[in-house]
Amino acid sequence: MASRAEQVLQSVFGYPAFRGEQQAIIEHVAGGGDALVLMPTGGGKSLCYQIPALLRDGCAIVVSPLIALMQDQVDALRQLGVEAAFLNSSLDAAAQREVERRFAAGALKLLYVAPERLLTERCLDLVARAGVALFAIDEAHCVSQWGHDFRPEYRQLTLLHERFPLIPRIALTATADAPTRREIVERLALESAREFVASFDRPNIRYRVVEKDDARRQLKDFLGAHAGESGIVYCLSRRKVDEISEWLSGEGVTALPYHAGMDAGLRARNQQRFLREDGVVMVATIAFGMGIDKPDVRFVAHVDLPKSMEGYYQETGRAGRDGLPAEAWLCYGLADVVTLAQFIAQSESGEERKRVERRKLDELLGYAETTACRRQRLLAYFGETLAEPCGNCDNCLDPPETWDASIVAQKALSCVYRTGQRFGVGHLTTVLRGEADERVRSLGHDRLSTFGVGAELDKQQWRGVFRQLVAIGLLTPDDEGYGTLRLTPASRAVLRGEQPVHLRRQADRGERRARRQQA
Ligand code: ADP
Ligand code: ZN
Repeated sequence: MASRAEQVLQSVFGYPAFRGEQQAIIEHVAGGGDALVLMPTGGGKSLCYQIPALLRDGCAIVVSPLIALMQDQVDALRQLGVEAAFLNSSLDAAAQREVERRFAAGALKLLYVAPERLLTERCLDLVARAGVALFAIDEAHCVSQWGHDFRPEYRQLTLLHERFPLIPRIALTATADAPTRREIVERLALESAREFVASFDRPNIRYRVVEKDDARRQLKDFLGAHAGESGIVYCLSRRKVDEISEWLSGEGVTALPYHAGMDAGLRARNQQRFLREDGVVMVATIAFGMGIDKPDVRFVAHVDLPKSMEGYYQETGRAGRDGLPAEAWLCYGLADVVTLAQFIAQSESGEERKRVERRKLDELLGYAETTACRRQRLLAYFGETLAEPCGNCDNCLDPPETWDASIVAQKALSCVYRTGQRFGVGHLTTVLRGEADERVRSLGHDRLSTFGVGAELDKQQWRGVFRQLVAIGLLTPDDEGYGTLRLTPASRAVLRGEQPVHLRRQADRGERRARRQQA
């Protein structure tokens, strides 16, 4: 026999069955328990509070920072015959009073409220007088400063628990690494809440990372392998979006730009074409994607480094919603790391914030440089353990070769040190390779002990070594953005020969595969 929750799922929402842990979550909350729900975007979080709202007496209060989406959610519920409304700054005074009146009269089953609105004395009074079924706190990561969209008002939501201890609470989020999760529990006083963590794995997405040498040619080759398919190419800046989309159009690719600096009408038209036509490549900043539900996006390419693992997961997660094979492709080089490090250092944020952003960037670099399974690394970031390597990422399919680079790393680090930690890869390589050009001579760097000690590697190979040394934290770009490299506290052990260094071999993957096939 179907449970009451299932009956509501079928009769109100018209779906035959629950997904994943929805039923367990719904029954727990409907029974009066607190819950913390971690589920990827598109996993079906809304039903986890909407159905308990219908099963319990009173109205559910849904706290959400996304004012723009409230109207849509309320419209969708009304279509299904559920009494729902929202309170936020977009309503005029009369409309607001009308919603409050219906809420107080017990005529609503769901009320969406912006946090700053809910926390007003006026609103809390209303809550105290009306019957409330539960509090749902959507986008719960907003409570955390580790998260990417911290909202100070979320911190005050503990007030709900203090004033209304008997009303169950359900906090939901799609992005929470371990520190964020701990912070949510602590800040929202959810210590006794049951945690429901859905898998973040997207097994049909194949992850690939390539070293940038000629970005345009690499992108073109990648797109060539996906001709006629829909996909997204993410760039860091608006200018780059314009450049790349224009260039791709000239190359015969159906490419359209999308970024927040464009005329709103054109932006909307481009989005519509991407959704409706087959085989459109959207070249976009991360402004593109929120709320886009296109099932057959076959690839997501990053031609610049994303800012964090959360960002990377969200953006790549737009591929393959239909469950069919899809590809996530990241092309990056040392210059990207330098650019992002500079962005962070020169931003207006405080020191604490900068440290957090820098750590997030380092996590991403670790992912980009790992020689192990990418999916295991990605899921581990979200606190999930994948028992076996996935078999569907570049490192699994074509295992990279590593080599003992301890001596080479020592040469590189001591060259950085001897030249005063004031130079970038170009000059360092010239010194290491013993090329006494004018600059080297005028600086007296041809007289350094590290001059010419690295002739065994060519320029390209040195660039790869330096990039990997940055990615594994043995060198760091300075804050000025000139690409100057400095030592880190971790460099010392390597310089002293106490810590071996293994690096990925730089041979072109295609070449290596060909070699192996011949053998
Ligand atoms: P989230 O908030 O986790 O991103 P949503 O709640 O918006 O996800 O749900 C994503 C989509 O999946 C919606 O279109 C929703 O109607 C649909 N959905 C959710 N649960 C089910 C289910 N049990 N059966 C079928 N469709 C579902
Ligand atoms: Zn793998």
